[in-house]
Amino acid sequence: MKDLGSSPIRKIVHVDMDAFYASVEQRDNPELRGKPIAVGGSAARGVVAAASYEARAFGVHSAMPSVTAKRKCPELIFVPPRFDVYRAVSQQIREIFAEYTPVIEPLSLDEAYLDVTKNLKGMEVATEIASEIRAKIKQVTGLNASAGISYNKFLAKMASDLNKPNGQAVITPKNGPVFVEALPVKKFHGVGPATAEKMHRLGIDTGADLKEKTLEFLVENFGKSGPYFYGIARGIDEREVKPNRERKSVGAEDTFLQDLHAYGPAREGLQPLIEKVWAYCEANGIGAKTVTLKVKYADFNQITRSKTASTPLSAIDDLEDIVDLLLSPIFPPRKGIRLLGVTLSSLGRQTVAMEPQLRLAL
Ligand SMILES: [Mg+2]
Repeated sequence: MKDLGSSPIRKIVHVDMDAFYASVEQRDNPELRGKPIAVGGSAARGVVAAASYEARAFGVHSAMPSVTAKRKCPELIFVPPRFDVYRAVSQQIREIFAEYTPVIEPLSLDEAYLDVTKNLKGMEVATEIASEIRAKIKQVTGLNASAGISYNKFLAKMASDLNKPNGQAVITPKNGPVFVEALPVKKFHGVGPATAEKMHRLGIDTGADLKEKTLEFLVENFGKSGPYFYGIARGIDEREVKPNRERKSVGAEDTFLQDLHAYGPAREGLQPLIEKVWAYCEANGIGAKTVTLKVKYADFNQITRSKTASTPLSAIDDLEDIVDLLLSPIFPPRKGIRLLGVTLSSLGRQTVAMEPQLRLAL
């Protein structure tokens, strides 16, 4: 039970590696240093998984289609990802975190929240913990990390961006509400482009605008996210740092600015989602058997279509094939499509096929 009245202000650190995959590649291959590189495929439907800071200067960023990236930066060097190496580095980083606290919540291979309120070193000052961790990461891996320190997850996450790369920032309880008021909502963690657009239409462009809205208004317009937005507009976020979350599924979805009616644009819209969930599975050694396609129509009616393979998917092509199979029968759609999502479930460990690779019976 919570001890009313005496719970201390929490100390949360968000650690985020700088341009992680790209930095690992530049670390391991001196020829790539100082050059604009993108980790990811250069193929027609490829997507940038990570961009070096030299590439970012050209406007290249992660999740951008490789074709677009190449146009923005003609000398861009594409490097195929090496997830086994990223996983190993990630493990080294997590071991460093674990010297300070067992309360670690990884968000991905290169990012984690740490609750250091009660830490294993008995250190009082969270900013000192963050500095030490970053120095150790540099010493052990040769890579730069940035950190945000605050009294909740939302602000710690926002703070880690403030002095990136290779820096850290603190947001205190005194500064939190003021910081949020001045912040454009499109920069909020948890507000994607479609939500930002919707907020804009509702006259909400900054944290201050968001703070003016009632809880009822936010729930009416944003459903489950309403209370979260209401809280963060005030610098309040009660979510706990949850260690070792076991994933039951891996999914990604996107709301489109304009409703889709044709197969082509819908398939195109799904590609970055496919790449995202696949990259997550590869990065974490997860094998999945069930693929679920979610379709939300303009009238907010929603359908899902699933297919379960007999063995875990072993290549992104298999995932693409299943998505195609699930997607095509819904065309022509009865209404415009406003959202598409792909979720993988029935998760297990990825296994290397010992027999000739089994293609899925479609
Ligand atoms: Mg990062």
